Amino acid sequence: MKIGIVGAAGRMGRMLLTEVLARQNIDLSGGTEAPDSAFIGIDLGALIGAPDTGRVVTDDADAVIADSDVVIDFTVPEATLAHVGAAARHGTAMVIGTTGFDGTQLADLNRFGAENVIVHAANYSVGVNLLLGLTEQAAAILNDDYDIEIVEMHHRHKIDAPSGTALAIGDAAASGRKVKLDDVAVRVRDGITGPRPAGDIGFATLRGGGVVGDHTVMFAAETERFELTHKAADRSVFAAGAVRAAVWATSQSPGYYSMRDVLGFS
Ligand code: NAD
Repeated sequence: MKIGIVGAAGRMGRMLLTEVLARQNIDLSGGTEAPDSAFIGIDLGALIGAPDTGRVVTDDADAVIADSDVVIDFTVPEATLAHVGAAARHGTAMVIGTTGFDGTQLADLNRFGAENVIVHAANYSVGVNLLLGLTEQAAAILNDDYDIEIVEMHHRHKIDAPSGTALAIGDAAASGRKVKLDDVAVRVRDGITGPRPAGDIGFATLRGGGVVGDHTVMFAAETERFELTHKAADRSVFAAGAVRAAVWATSQSPGYYSMRDVLGFS
């Protein structure tokens, strides 16, 4: 099986390289970076302090995608959308970890699922996907007397907020309550906000240091508070999950899948 990695020099790209190069049954078909990247032309092994692989970082995403059974993409929304278009042309499956898509971009991504295999998850850890399932269940059992609030913390380099995982937790909670997240989400609070309306799903975002990813969903009633928390200790958990999804993707029919599908939780 041939796996390509786009955005290979990024924090997640390097984790993915490490994970793929460690697997005997997987060939690394190539790795790309943005055209202005200082890493273009460098051997992919050098990005992670490993021996040379004979393949260099390229900005020719089309060639890498054409030469891969599946491509893993943890980049930025605009780049991911271009990659998904190329993957559809070449019949290459895609595993997408990028977060921060707006509604129009998400609809575009979804459309490609009609003709190609796409796995898209805001979080590839097994624990977070279990948290999503439990959140949906808890939201269905606990009525509007329980206010739902989601708190997340990430490292200082993260460029989108709330995190894709926090929004996925919000989606799971909204789905348990049989409402649309967009109708009830309060993504920011500031100033004289007035009392909290029942049924809102609130978000709070913290940024700092090197935190890999902490998420808590709380169900707060007058007389008790129920909380579910996940803390990622190392980025490699996402890379291992994404490679697991990539292997799974190569034997699927076209469709738009989540990590919960890969793990059989859905
Ligand atoms: P990063 O900034 O370290 O890496 C992104 C890389 O993409 C950079 O090296 C950048 O140069 C590259 N890139 C940008 N445009 C490109 C293009 N056109 N072609 C090729 N490469 C391009 O960021 P990161 O911390 O690795 O995170 C990347 C994304 O993955 C973010 O959206 C983040 O939220 C998400 N993420 C998801 C999960 C998950 O489990 N789904 C886990 C961690 C991070």
